[in-house]
Amino acid sequence: MLTEAQKLLKQYYGYTSFRPGQEHIIRSLLEGRDTLGIMPTGGGKSICYQIPALLMKGLTLVVSPLISLMKDQVDALGTLGIPAASINSTLTGSEVGRVLREAESGRLRLLYVAPERLESDWFRERVRELNIPFVAVDEAHCVSQWGHDFRPSYTAISPFLRSLPKRPLVAAFTATATPEVKRDIADLLELEQPEIVITGFARDNLALHILRGENKRDYITRYVQAHSHQPGIVYAATRREVEEVYEMLRKKGVAAGKYHAGMADAERAAAQEAFLYDDVRVMVATNAFGMGIDKSNVRYVIHHNMPKNMEAYYQEAGRAGRDGEPGECILLFGAQDILTQKFFIEQSNLSPERKSNEYKKLQAMVDFCYTPKCLRSAILQYFGDTQEDEPCGMCSSCKDDRETVDITVEAQKIFSCIKRMRERFGISMVASVLKGSGAKKVLEYRFNELPTYGIMRNFTEKDISDLINVLVAEGYLGLSEGQYPTLKLQEGALEVLQGRVTVYQKIARKPAAAAAGDD
Ligand code: ADP
Ligand code: ZN
Repeated sequence: MLTEAQKLLKQYYGYTSFRPGQEHIIRSLLEGRDTLGIMPTGGGKSICYQIPALLMKGLTLVVSPLISLMKDQVDALGTLGIPAASINSTLTGSEVGRVLREAESGRLRLLYVAPERLESDWFRERVRELNIPFVAVDEAHCVSQWGHDFRPSYTAISPFLRSLPKRPLVAAFTATATPEVKRDIADLLELEQPEIVITGFARDNLALHILRGENKRDYITRYVQAHSHQPGIVYAATRREVEEVYEMLRKKGVAAGKYHAGMADAERAAAQEAFLYDDVRVMVATNAFGMGIDKSNVRYVIHHNMPKNMEAYYQEAGRAGRDGEPGECILLFGAQDILTQKFFIEQSNLSPERKSNEYKKLQAMVDFCYTPKCLRSAILQYFGDTQEDEPCGMCSSCKDDRETVDITVEAQKIFSCIKRMRERFGISMVASVLKGSGAKKVLEYRFNELPTYGIMRNFTEKDISDLINVLVAEGYLGLSEGQYPTLKLQEGALEVLQGRVTVYQKIARKPAAAAAGDD
């Protein structure tokens, strides 16, 4: 069967080989197993259901939430010589009738439908007459309240599947890999012992960088000016910051554009056009920018602020280098970014349960900003894509040639201070105590009487906080959920306190020492 699939890949698409995950997904489907494919946008999911569709007798139904994507797919299949059509809200009643008659004639191989259709009794009746061996569900996370894009009409999918005379084989696809979403997709779409394949998250041409403690505005100005001939995107967290960075670049003579939800539709459309056609080189934008635009030669993406979670980060960073040529992704992290994101979560009208979920995802993002591990490996691990796990050799962690020092003693001081404070306080309070601060709150709790008070006097409070963040990212410390998270010792911290484990950290070379040698 797989050789048949290979033949079709060559014959219709002109590709010589499958990507590793595609082969896995197709094999699983051809063996008749329900399959959940988790792959990022651009990972090559279409082929994963189109080729099985060509190998099955009957009509394949593809549930897709976006009319524009449906249209693109149907057009693309048309040029490949594969008969396909779509049914969505833009069609008139008679057009729908025509498409259904075409389906009944057996000529169509794939039919794309919007999920709302599946709720219609009339549609269900008509479709019962068709032979549908296979249903593919795109953007399957839309079925989950935990996903970022819940669509009530997706809950109509499983009753629809049950309403068919014979239950079809089901494939579901999403780019969201959190455990809650995975579980919901399998449960709510009633997948039968699905094969779960996570693949395609590696982007070998992207160099990921995280920079902490930079002057963000200066950095962006210098970078953008040095890359003035390349298209790039600068993402900022708020409209105000977009405006400010945009103005700043304009004043420096940079051909910058701006994009955020506060602008008029026409203004936004014009900005997008200007960027697509290279009239502006760099787009300063909120996360509203980028959905559905496909500019493949973006050479860099700079995050002026840390995004709310890893999914958002990787989706935005991933807009660099879509053409396969090198791309740079730079995240400028500042501690203030954490407060901004917490503020957004608090302001949202999410349920307490969802809020706590968002806090958890935010913490994973913060951990990523402090991890000394290879950033590409860290991402693949986060998404559960373990096909490839060599250090990338090009991210800011891999390129980090700073000295590795033993910080076991400092870690022990931090851990024992947290223990003496009964694991009831957050990072800044612990840092204040270790520093020996005379702050009112420290004295109120009489932490100045603790033996750990002031035992890291020779560090700044910021350095202590950074160190604690590294220890959190490394898993020695946990942070409770919520707006004011408190530090908790983890298994690893106890081993460090017992002297059984050594802790290392990379540190910058002393400026004085560096001054003697290089410039
Ligand atoms: P997705 O639907 O996951 O966003 P697509 O199915 O549109 O992604 O595929 C993304 C791009 O990768 C397309 O240009 C597609 O032609 C290309 N592609 C997919 N599979 C292969 C393959 N096996 N070899 C080469 N290119 C591929
Ligand atoms: Zn790396």
